[in-house]
Amino acid sequence: MWGFFGHQKINRMAVFTLPVEMIGFYKHNIQYLTENAVNPDRRRYAVEGEAPCHYIDLDVYGDSAAYKLPRYWNDAVEQYSEDTLLAYGIVPWHVNRVKYQLTDAMRVGDVRNILRLSADLGHYIADANVPLHTTENYDGQLTGQRGIHGLWESRLPELFSEDYDFFIGRASYIENPQLAIWDAVVHAHEALDSVLAFEVAITEKLGIDKKYSFETRGNVTVKVYSREFSQKYHEALGGMVERQMLRSVKMVGDFWYTCWIDAGQPDLDKLIDFEFTEEELQQRRLELREWKEKNHHSRRHESD
Ligand SMILES: [Zn+2]
Repeated sequence: MWGFFGHQKINRMAVFTLPVEMIGFYKHNIQYLTENAVNPDRRRYAVEGEAPCHYIDLDVYGDSAAYKLPRYWNDAVEQYSEDTLLAYGIVPWHVNRVKYQLTDAMRVGDVRNILRLSADLGHYIADANVPLHTTENYDGQLTGQRGIHGLWESRLPELFSEDYDFFIGRASYIENPQLAIWDAVVHAHEALDSVLAFEVAITEKLGIDKKYSFETRGNVTVKVYSREFSQKYHEALGGMVERQMLRSVKMVGDFWYTCWIDAGQPDLDKLIDFEFTEEELQQRRLELREWKEKNHHSRRHESD
């Protein structure tokens, strides 16, 4: 997770990438999408099966796993078994699954689920773009760098994202969401060496006594990475945190937009102050299921 701050900012900024047909509805609900950007982390320890949705430990699968792991869920299950996949994280497959769920919610016009799944999808996509979410060594615990997770994804954005340039243009359609999210995971994983190595380098350069400082939050004093250390590390990363954050924002917008296109471009403005009753939604879900079954033959190659 990007920490509360990062996740909220990513969902919020993603709204502004959307086309005119979507932005009304999403802007109207921007508070919800922002506040609920961290829901998946909140239920992480309470809901069984939630935890592996946030990461993938690529290194446990051996050399070049990032490039060699099966891209599609069914192929991966066949090769490794579902238990193994769940043990080491499933974020790229889970993003694709939520993508299909959101598309269905849009087809049906299910406002509550459109919002819930949009917020969730934003969260998982953002997680997939964090280098430390692609490794077993997710908090530097295997290399004597414990704490680096929070440093990279919470401390740095909190200190420096004011200066990031969030102008990233318009959301675009993704032809193959499953491959697109894998590309993001690969890209994040390729940055992992730098994330770890620069932390060591700056620690050596600055000296361990300047690495941490104490800050008062309310009436507790907490040990944090010092401002100087954070600044030097942030500089050494050469804009990586900003790039990954912007990539996340753009990708969240792209996925929301892709769901909407795949759902047949439903009129979202209509849903700004209108909701189907639960009974109507049941009926619409039933119709969708029947429609899918009828179309099953032509859709066999899709992976939902
Ligand atoms: Zn998360």
